[in-house]
Amino acid sequence: MPKKKTKKLIDKNGVRIDGRELNKLRPIKLEVGILDNADGSAYIEQGKNKILVGVYGPKEVHPKHLAISDRALLRCRYHMAPFSVQERKSPAPSRRERELSKVIKEALQPAIFVKYYPRTSIELFIEVLQADGGTRCASLTAASLALADAGIPMRDLVAACAAGKVEGHLALDLNDTEDKEGEADLPVAWIPTLNAVTLLQMDGKVTLEEFEQLVNMAIEGCKQIYPLQKEALKAKYIAVKEEVKE
Ligand code: UDP
Repeated sequence: MPKKKTKKLIDKNGVRIDGRELNKLRPIKLEVGILDNADGSAYIEQGKNKILVGVYGPKEVHPKHLAISDRALLRCRYHMAPFSVQERKSPAPSRRERELSKVIKEALQPAIFVKYYPRTSIELFIEVLQADGGTRCASLTAASLALADAGIPMRDLVAACAAGKVEGHLALDLNDTEDKEGEADLPVAWIPTLNAVTLLQMDGKVTLEEFEQLVNMAIEGCKQIYPLQKEALKAKYIAVKEEVKE
C-alpha cells in the first residue's frame, strides 16, 4: 500500500518543506583534491547528500583484452554506502547502482578527450555517504571535478541538476521526500561550452509542455552549479599556491 502523506510538500506561498522556493537549488558545497591516494578527487554536499569521488588513471587496463586501441576506457562505479539511507542498503551492487554507473559514465564521456590515451583506463569511484535525492546529478557534478583534478584533458566540466513535479508544481532540485512523493523527476547533465545535454532521464508523468519546462529548469540549475564548480577548482590551486609560498 502506498505510504500516506503526512504533510503538504508545498504550502500556499509556494514554499517547500525545506524552506526553498520552487526555483531554488539546495545549498551546495564542493571541495576538490581531498584524497591523497587518488589521482583526482572531489566531494560534494548538496542539501543532505554527501558524496565522495575518486579518479584513478589514465592507467594500464586490467584485464588487458578490455583495452581499446584508439581511446581510453572509462569505467565508473556508483555505490551507496550501507549507512547512506535510513533503511540499511545492502553493500552488494544493485540494479539501480549498475544503471547509475552506466548513465554517469555516458554523461561524462563526451567531455573527456579519451582519444588522447589509447589502451588505458580511467577509473571513477563514486561513494554516496549520505543520500537525499538527486544523487546521480550530485555525483556527476563532483565526478567531473575529480576528473579535472586528475589532470585529464576535458572539453569542459559537466554540471548536473534535476527538476521535477511536486503536488502540481514544477520544482528545481528535488530532495528525497519530494522525489519519492512527487509526481515526476527529470535529471539532466549539461556541458556548458558544447551546450550539450549528456544525460536526460525521467521518472513519472508530465505533459509535453511541462516536460519542456522541466528540461529548461534543470539546465538553468546546471548554469547555477557550473560557476560553483569552477570556483571549487580554483580554490584548490589557490591553496596550493599559498602552500608553496610558505
Ligand atoms: N534511495 C533509498 N534507498 C535506495 C536507493 C535510493 O532510500 O536503495 C533514496 C536516496 O535518497 C536517493 C533517492 O532514493 O537519492 C532517489 O533515488 P533515485 O533512484 O531517484 O536516484 P537519485 O535521485 O538519487 O539520482
